[in-house]
Amino acid sequence: MVHLSAAIQRIAPSATLGVSAKAAELRKAGRDIISLSVGEPDFPVPPAARDAAIRAIEEGNNHYTAVEGTPALRAAIADKFKRDNGLTYAPEDIIVSTGGKQVIFNAMLATVGEGDEVIIPTPYWVSYPEIVALVGGTSRIVPTRIEDGFKMLSAELAAAITPKTRWLILNSPSNPTGSVYTADELTEFAEVLRRNPHVWIMSDDIYEHIHYMRGNFANIAQVAPDLADRTLTVNGASKAFAMTGWRIGYAGGPRALIKAMGKAQSQMTANACAIAQAACLGALTGDMGFLADRSEVFRERRDMVVERLSAIPGLSVAVPDGAFYVFPECAGLIGRRTPSGTVLATDEDVAGYMLEAGVAVVHGAPFGHSPAFRISYATDTASLTTAMDRIEAAVAALA
Ligand code: PLP
Repeated sequence: MVHLSAAIQRIAPSATLGVSAKAAELRKAGRDIISLSVGEPDFPVPPAARDAAIRAIEEGNNHYTAVEGTPALRAAIADKFKRDNGLTYAPEDIIVSTGGKQVIFNAMLATVGEGDEVIIPTPYWVSYPEIVALVGGTSRIVPTRIEDGFKMLSAELAAAITPKTRWLILNSPSNPTGSVYTADELTEFAEVLRRNPHVWIMSDDIYEHIHYMRGNFANIAQVAPDLADRTLTVNGASKAFAMTGWRIGYAGGPRALIKAMGKAQSQMTANACAIAQAACLGALTGDMGFLADRSEVFRERRDMVVERLSAIPGLSVAVPDGAFYVFPECAGLIGRRTPSGTVLATDEDVAGYMLEAGVAVVHGAPFGHSPAFRISYATDTASLTTAMDRIEAAVAALA
């Protein structure tokens, strides 16, 4: 029997990837399943990225690059942070990794060990606590409420900080709730963080370009520049450019941290794929006008999905301000009986019942908040409408 390390036994596999794989399997077996489980936009890759990738292949761009990314891409990312977020980074303050996931893993591996705590508000992206556990740290979970739009209050942040706190992870717009922190809310967090100079801040901005707020997107280093020397600003090509499979994430941060992250990466994957780096450079330096148009499409879908879900008895919905997820609570479905006689005891049962009805959603437990489930509306409107019809009918059929 294979001997498994303590580290690997501490973690769970990605629930979202698991549900997506199950939905794909059922589809392959001939079942009519609409998958609302995927965390990726259903748009094409920007032509500038595609053209740059093809050029890179044709030019024989097939060698290792610098571990932290090509100089051209790091410079373009520094320009992006300046242009979009008003943040000043030199190219040496930037790292490019194999997806945002590796950026976060690098940061945790480089800084967190036994006894260190990382503050993670719930509901959270499934991977945060697992990454913290993998490197031997402890997640300090801060529950939020639907009435507060699933947003942590600054007093709750203050109460969660201990002398062992290494990081606060902020994810706005959020996966799975779509909640977005305003500049004022971030300013309140900054006041708490100023009183706690030992706490570093990871701002996961991967959904930056998908939001429906009237004002501009804000992140903490932007509203509190004095905290930039302990803030890691994470972003990437996956969600903005619909390039999830190309695996390019990046971050800007204090140089010593970036260097340590590069050291970790040098012994792991080394550089991110050279062709994908060229593609990301193409996207970042090409026309980005499509981003606003895509956000508008997502907004229309959000409005439709929120309206439909809100009308279903037993579900409670907070209106998301960004990303492409809705996270309905489903306490009203717990304890109800399905037509085949099963009592829905947990949100996993609810998600299983939805799957029987032909819609794949991810239950709330892996996001640290139950009973609830996550719907991704990154799919075409006709499929979304059918999915809403199926969910509505399935709920109506419960005794
Ligand atoms: N952060 C959040 C909140 C996410 O939802 C994801 C992907 O789903 C990532 C980071 C990582 O993205 P990737 O590794 O695909 O760049």
